[in-house]
Amino acid sequence: MRRVSILGATGSIGQNTIDLIGREPDRFAVAALTGGRNIAQLASDAKALRAEVAVTCHEDLLPDLRYALQGTGIEAAAGDTAIAEAGARPADWVMSSIVGAAGLMPGVAALDQGATLALANKESMVCAGALMKQRARAGGATILPVDSEHSAVFQALIGEDIAAVERVIITASGGAFRDWSPEQMAAATPEQAATHPNWDMGQRITIDSASLFNKAMELIETREFFDIDPARIEAVIHPESMIHAMVGFGDGALMAHVGPPDMRHAIGFALNWPERRALPVERLDFVKLGQFTFREADPARYPALRLAREVMEAGGLSGAVFNAAKETALDGFLDRRIGFLDMARIVEETLVAISASPGHIDAEFTLDNVRAVDHLARQTAAGLMAQQNK
Ligand code: NAD
Ligand code: MG
Repeated sequence: MRRVSILGATGSIGQNTIDLIGREPDRFAVAALTGGRNIAQLASDAKALRAEVAVTCHEDLLPDLRYALQGTGIEAAAGDTAIAEAGARPADWVMSSIVGAAGLMPGVAALDQGATLALANKESMVCAGALMKQRARAGGATILPVDSEHSAVFQALIGEDIAAVERVIITASGGAFRDWSPEQMAAATPEQAATHPNWDMGQRITIDSASLFNKAMELIETREFFDIDPARIEAVIHPESMIHAMVGFGDGALMAHVGPPDMRHAIGFALNWPERRALPVERLDFVKLGQFTFREADPARYPALRLAREVMEAGGLSGAVFNAAKETALDGFLDRRIGFLDMARIVEETLVAISASPGHIDAEFTLDNVRAVDHLARQTAAGLMAQQNK
């Protein structure tokens, strides 16, 4: 039996992971499941999968979780420390699918215990890629990408020589507003931004898809995962979301990864790796699909893409600033304190402000410094938003 834990089990990726694991009860033993406010879901999954422990990040919900698990023998725990402990609980395979920088600590805990970390939480790669890789080496752990584009690149690289890679192209659907004018985007509401043409995902990543902040994060994630020169990493808009990524080699060949927009492929690939096993995803009919189309991912229309390039150029802890400022600006947009297009401006101004003084983005790459700069960026971005609303 393989011991598995799912961090962020109640979310979109978490539920897709549970769908796969639940199909093979004889193959997997569940150590920890973690979630947030949805105690009913967390408890019912913990019971169905016979998990050892269920953890919510909200301490005030511990009594509810305890009540829901009464008489089952399943341990209940709550709070950030308990979430990190869930990552440290002995397991062979850990799904990192918490949303946001909150996924960093439990992910690092899983690396420290030498587990295979299936990484959906791109934020941890964006804010602390160097650290994640170093902790994986030290702990004898493996990090496998779950983001569909990065899983696609990983698969296209199997058996290939990384030195022969000329370019990596990740695709973007373009999100909810791909056909909207800048004026329309400026007036967009959170509800409008939170609908996705192809993928069914959590609210935050769906809005990040519309602003292309998600793709911006993924450019950085590509660089961190595969150690590829940023100049060789491209993004292109592909409205059908069928090609997830393409890897171009020095002989002119492009290996494209094609599949339906169903995260159970990338999750299942990481779950079964290094084997390939059958997965319950749709098989594509190319005649029915008819055509694949592409458009430029224009950095003038999507400043997030330009900012990601600047972050890759600056290096150091600038990814942590970028991510924290983006998370804060997204909160501001969700609370209707700033507009959709203001998000990129807040992130840019935060990067400029924090880069201006030494000792932040050029600080040593430690977990403490990542957390300190993350905190500073959140404060700075919140201050900028408050100023705007005066
Ligand atoms: P989601 O919002 O559906 O779920 C997030 C999960 O994290 C929930 O279980 C929630 O309870 C938990 N959580 C939220 N805040 C937390 C905190 N502070 N501490 C501990 N737990 C917390 O999100 P999702 O769409 O499943 O995305 C999860 C991660 O996977 C994100 O990093 C996202 O970018 C990435 N990802 C998602 C998809 C997708 O298809 N949904 C695709 C690629 C990558
Ligand atoms: Mg993706």
